[in-house]
Amino acid sequence: MIGIDMFSLAGRRAFVTGGSRGIGLALAAGLGRAGAEVIIAARDETALASAADSLRAEQIKAGICVLDVSQHDRVRMAVDALETAGQPIDILVNNAGMQHRQPLHEFDIDMFDQLMATNLRSVFSVSQAVAGHMIKRGHGKIINIASVTSLLARPGVAPYTASKGAVSNLTKGMAADWAPLGLNCNAIAPGYFQTELNAALMADTDFNDWLINRTPARRWGRVDELVGACVFLAAPASDFVNGQTLFVDGGLTATV
Ligand code: NDP
Repeated sequence: MIGIDMFSLAGRRAFVTGGSRGIGLALAAGLGRAGAEVIIAARDETALASAADSLRAEQIKAGICVLDVSQHDRVRMAVDALETAGQPIDILVNNAGMQHRQPLHEFDIDMFDQLMATNLRSVFSVSQAVAGHMIKRGHGKIINIASVTSLLARPGVAPYTASKGAVSNLTKGMAADWAPLGLNCNAIAPGYFQTELNAALMADTDFNDWLINRTPARRWGRVDELVGACVFLAAPASDFVNGQTLFVDGGLTATV
């Protein structure tokens, strides 16, 4: 395959967790514009319905799946139900995630567990459920959303940092197990993007000043700037790319 076709997602179906807003919605729209049908998953049905309407307004074929990705058994049931309904998943984007900021010596244990279940265990649960079907078909693309904190720490977010480090390493493990079976498993590590997850940071002038100076591109990222990497990792163009974490961070992790 040569030329722009290698980036086409026509005839593919993508399942994007956390697709109701922020980065997930931008990625769903980007995959849709590249030709994929998309199913967006999250817990809030009203937000999902309105996000799906915004996709359909762009002529993207969009469906919703109300799902808490931290519920292992429910994830399996939801994925199997799609397969049974004749809606197999060709592209999985594990994007759902949460943040909780608290000094490590005071960090609440229940919040630690919730954060790990949402950011890390969900990647295992959804991927395992989807990969079972992909393996039977001999192909599939899994894209995990990691973070610059997969590599680097900042105060107040140690458990998040641990979860995202593990997401990047789990991506390598997925490649080791599933690349021989025809799947491509990779991760995208976004820098800092202005979404609800970062509301506290956006309101913090000191953080803003620090970020602008620390980032070679001298600004926050725009969610649409993650789309190119996602389409690449979802498309035939990346058929020999396995276990990689692609940093889309304005140069932040390339510099001290
Ligand atoms: P948002 O808070 O804007 O969106 C989070 C999405 O995840 C929502 O759709 C939310 O929907 C969904 N979600 C949260 N918990 C669950 C759950 N248990 N089950 C199903 N869906 C869930 O976050 P962002 O768009 O900023 O972040 C998306 C991903 O990108 C996360 O993994 C985040 O860690 C990562 N990231 C973000 C960066 C940034 O700068 N914004 C930087 C690096 C990584 P609902 O609440 O309805 O379930």
